[in-house]
Amino acid sequence: MNYTCKACGSNMVFSPKNQKMICLHCNQLDTHEKKTNESLVTCISCGADITPGEFVSSSKCPYCGTYVIYDERVSDKFQPDVIVPFKLDRDTVFNTLDREFEDRLFTPTKFLTEATYKDLEGKYIPFFLYDFAADGEYLGVGTKERSWRSGDYTYHETSYYDVERVMHAEYENIPADASTEMPDDKMDLLEPYDYHELLSFDPKYLSGFFGEIYNEPSMAYRDRAYKKALSSAKKIMKDSISGYTTLKAKVDKMDVKDKDVEYALFPVWVYNFKWKDKDNKIYVNGQTGKVIGRTPVSKIKVLAYTLSTGIISFACMELLIKILGEVL
Ligand SMILES: [Zn+2]
Ligand SMILES: [Zn+2]
Repeated sequence: MNYTCKACGSNMVFSPKNQKMICLHCNQLDTHEKKTNESLVTCISCGADITPGEFVSSSKCPYCGTYVIYDERVSDKFQPDVIVPFKLDRDTVFNTLDREFEDRLFTPTKFLTEATYKDLEGKYIPFFLYDFAADGEYLGVGTKERSWRSGDYTYHETSYYDVERVMHAEYENIPADASTEMPDDKMDLLEPYDYHELLSFDPKYLSGFFGEIYNEPSMAYRDRAYKKALSSAKKIMKDSISGYTTLKAKVDKMDVKDKDVEYALFPVWVYNFKWKDKDNKIYVNGQTGKVIGRTPVSKIKVLAYTLSTGIISFACMELLIKILGEVL
């Protein structure tokens, strides 16, 4: 399918700046209509063969420049539940990168030039968002010691405590990217995305951008999210038991159960560049502007600017620690 302007018939794309559809020819906003293509492999506009790669859900026709969305890759089992639409447009990201890298290069030519502008690509990356529920139980004996002097004697006192904890925590929307091509560590660093701006999926958001479908089903990526929930729950339990000189556990259990999973698309600007004959990439969070990547100057220094902070990466929706008893 693609989106065309009711006024002039040209291609319409999603504009991050306006958060509306915009006509590439007459600039009218939200005058779009959807045109469905019967063939997956021919361009609806010029008829050229545009067979998509295995995981491509939307792209640009290399012959006529029309943005195409592949119906079968955004419906049924491939229909995303939610999407964070692009918030930063190409110009903003280009200027951000230009500013960030300007001072860091000793090369006389600018790192980003008009010629490299086209290598900045807006992509929707597939993610799964996992929900878990954690139940923990701890039973043990803790000791506290104190010493004091009185006359010629030093007294030592050891107090024994029964330590009991029961906790329940709910985790919602722990993300893991479902793209083999995207490096997991880079995608983790690009977080957080602000989930307040999660919207129900609509294919129109893909117009003007490249899209990718999940490469494997959700179970293939689940362990990455599960480990985050488990380690968070264990830390909550551990932090709730403090102040003892010694601690001996009789029961120390943490049970993390799968609850739900959603298929999401998140926006990423990918800047491709060559340096000393090597292909390099810099990633920019298309919602927050966070930049992840390496500059050509130093191969050691990894840029990880947080341009927008204070957003939670996953929501710990409900946390309840019940202290059953602490008895001398
Ligand atoms: Zn138009
Ligand atoms: Zn075409």
